[in-house]
Amino acid sequence: MPRPILATIHTAALQHNLARARQAAQDAKLWCVVKANAYGHGIEQVFDGMRAADGFALLEPSEAQRIRDLGWRGPILLLEGVFDARDLELCSRLNLWHTVHCDQQIDWLAAHKTQQPHRVFLKMNSGMNRLGFTAERYRSAWARLNALTQVDEISLITHFSDADTAKGIGAALALFNQTTLDLPGERSICNSAAMLRNPDMPASQRGDWVRGGILLYGSAPDYPLQTAEDWGLQPTMTLSAKVIGVQELQAGDTVGYGSAFTADKPMRIGVVACGYADGYPRHCGNGTPVLVDGQRSRLIGRVSMDMVTVDLTDIPQAGWGSEVTLWGRAANGTVLPIDEVAQAAGTVGYELMCAVAPRVPVVVDGH
Ligand SMILES: *Cc1c(COP(=O)(O)O)cnc(C)c1O
Repeated sequence: MPRPILATIHTAALQHNLARARQAAQDAKLWCVVKANAYGHGIEQVFDGMRAADGFALLEPSEAQRIRDLGWRGPILLLEGVFDARDLELCSRLNLWHTVHCDQQIDWLAAHKTQQPHRVFLKMNSGMNRLGFTAERYRSAWARLNALTQVDEISLITHFSDADTAKGIGAALALFNQTTLDLPGERSICNSAAMLRNPDMPASQRGDWVRGGILLYGSAPDYPLQTAEDWGLQPTMTLSAKVIGVQELQAGDTVGYGSAFTADKPMRIGVVACGYADGYPRHCGNGTPVLVDGQRSRLIGRVSMDMVTVDLTDIPQAGWGSEVTLWGRAANGTVLPIDEVAQAAGTVGYELMCAVAPRVPVVVDGH
C-alpha cells in the first residue's frame, strides 16, 4: 500500500474561483497565473478547471511548452520574459507573449531573427523595485521596442508592491497612468489583491488584462484582513493523510523531538503520515489547527520529517486509519483554510501550496 498521504485538486473549486475572478475583473480579460507549477497544484492537474481562462501567465518556457502540449492555442505570457536569447526562438515557435523588463532583453530581441514579430509586455517599475523600467526610463524603452521589426504589438504592464496592504495601489497606479497616458496598447496592472480590494476602480483604470493568481487557488491574498470565505473563494487543494499510530499519554508524558509538548492530563494522540518532507511546514507549532475525520483538532509537539502528532482526546471515535486534513476540505465538507495553517507557520498560503513535495501523490477530483 502506498503511504497514506494525498493532495487532492478540486476542479469544481477552480471553476468556482475562476468565475469569482471574472466577476472581480469585470470587463477585463483574465490571465490565469500558473507559475510554480500552478502554485504547486500541477499545471496538468488544474488545466481542466481553468479552460475558461483568456490566457495563461507563467515564468518558465518549459511550463509554456506544457500548456501548449495540453492543446491550449490561446495567449500565454512569460511574466519575467526570456532568460536568454535562445528562449526567443521558443517564443517564436510557440507564439508566446513575453514581458520585457530590462535593456538586455531588448538587445536580444533586436538581434533575434524571426518571421513572426512578437507581442511584448513592457514592464514598468511602479515602486516594487524588482523588475521593470523606472518611470523616467519607461518611454525611451518603449520607443526602442517600437522601432524593432521583431516587435509587433507593445502592451504595458506593472506589478504593485502593496495591493494587499492598507497602503494600497493609489500612488503606484497614478505613476503608471501618468507615465503611460498617451501610449497606445493594452494594459495589465492588477493581481488578485488589486482586483479584489479595488472593486470600484473604473474600467479605464483596471486595465485590459488582470492577472489572477492566488484567488484562483482559494487563498486570500490579504489574509488576515480578509479570509478566503470573505472573498467567496473555495479551497482548490486538500492535503490529507491518515493516522498510522495511536498513543495513550499520562500526565507528564512528552511528545516528539525535543519533548516540545507535555501532557497535563491523560490524552490520546494520533500519529499522522505527513511531515516536513511532504511540504508541511516545520514551523507549525503546538495548537496549529487540523481536522480529524472532519472535526477540528490541533497539532501537538514538533513536526518531524515524516510525521506529525494530533490530539484525539476529544474525538473518541477517531483512531488508527482516521482521515486527517492538514488543509483544505474534509470528506464531511468542513474546510480548514490553508491561510490559517500558514499563519501558524508565520507564512502565507502561497508558500504552503507551492511547497507540497514531489513525493506526495496528487489526484484530481473532477466533480
Ligand atoms: C505571481 C504574479 C501574479 C499573481 O499574483 P497573485 O498575488 O497570486 O494574484 C501577478 N503578476 C505577476 C507579475 C506575478 O509575478
